[in-house]
Amino acid sequence: MKVTGDQALVKKINKSLILHTIRKHPELSRARISEMTGLNKATVSNLVAELLEEQLVLEAGPGESSGGRKPLILHFNAMAGCVVGMELRVKHLTAVLCNLNGAVLYETELPLDQHDFPSVLENMKTMLTGLIAMAPTTHYGVVGIGVGVPGMVDEDGVVLFAPNLSWEKVHLRELLEESFSIPVIIDNEANSGALGELNFGRGEDVRHLLYVSAGSGIGSGIIIGGELYKGSRGYAGETGHMCIEAEGTPCSCGSRGCWELYASEKAYDLAAMELPAYHTPELIRLAADGNAAARQQFEVMGSYLGIGLTNLINGFNPELIVIGGALSDARKWLEGPMQQVVAERTLPYHKQQLEIAFSTLGSRATMIGAGFSAAMHFLGHTRVMV
Ligand SMILES: [Zn+2]
Repeated sequence: MKVTGDQALVKKINKSLILHTIRKHPELSRARISEMTGLNKATVSNLVAELLEEQLVLEAGPGESSGGRKPLILHFNAMAGCVVGMELRVKHLTAVLCNLNGAVLYETELPLDQHDFPSVLENMKTMLTGLIAMAPTTHYGVVGIGVGVPGMVDEDGVVLFAPNLSWEKVHLRELLEESFSIPVIIDNEANSGALGELNFGRGEDVRHLLYVSAGSGIGSGIIIGGELYKGSRGYAGETGHMCIEAEGTPCSCGSRGCWELYASEKAYDLAAMELPAYHTPELIRLAADGNAAARQQFEVMGSYLGIGLTNLINGFNPELIVIGGALSDARKWLEGPMQQVVAERTLPYHKQQLEIAFSTLGSRATMIGAGFSAAMHFLGHTRVMV
């Protein structure tokens, strides 16, 4: 989008800039906002007055004065409305009711036995209805629903392909908007997870972050310059299908030797004969009890995780990589071999000031990030691009 001199657009951009400055920095005065944004004091005053009227900003008692009249302090009104963030996984649905700043008010979970779309949709609607009913009374009410799904999603919220659910071209956004008359944002689970980590987890203040979700497959959320990178059509981040074995095992995507065949739960199929269990929580329990086969399985997967990470690090030069998804619970056995491979194989300059961490939000990153996307959609995230 090329910015023109259109007054309404300029005002919208300035107002959004002020709102997000107040949201990110509690306890600002009008004068401080003017300094931080470079907008003149009259503009800040006018737009803050509008935000106060819209109840998105609240004014509190006097702050510290450097002499003269004490300034009034502004706060983002996170309780002006609520959003729902949901994650659809292969085995369960999880969801949170959050305020507009991502603070969790309620959390709920439902196991899924079947993956056919009609029954999953019914379960989603039941869960959403329950959470919306629990929302406290706020000025705007529930203003958005965000859903992270394990598959490719287009700009219209259509789930194009979710191989682990056997879904193709599912019009999820449209159907949920019809049912609830609330704006719905559908995104790939790794993109939502990356936003969750960037805003509420390990990624605060990070500009270049890769969130690698390892579970039933592998997907990555790519943050470049503080913004989610989605590619030309929204399909970026399918790193699980990056080839790491040129003549490796055939993959359902049509290629072979894909990363997720070796470093996600799909690796259990390759090692099935030797494994004592085929579900991650069960394998983690066995590994914790000292089962050698379970531990070795995670260690081998850790090495393969490291191989793929090396490719991503050399290609993207991130500051931070966060490992999330169901497998992040096996950190104890994955981490050592993974870090060793990265240390041995990554280009020397790329290793400097690089941190590889496991998610602090754990398996909650995706639903919290999905809720955040819904809140940002409501608040309007106008970006200046020239
Ligand atoms: Zn593949």
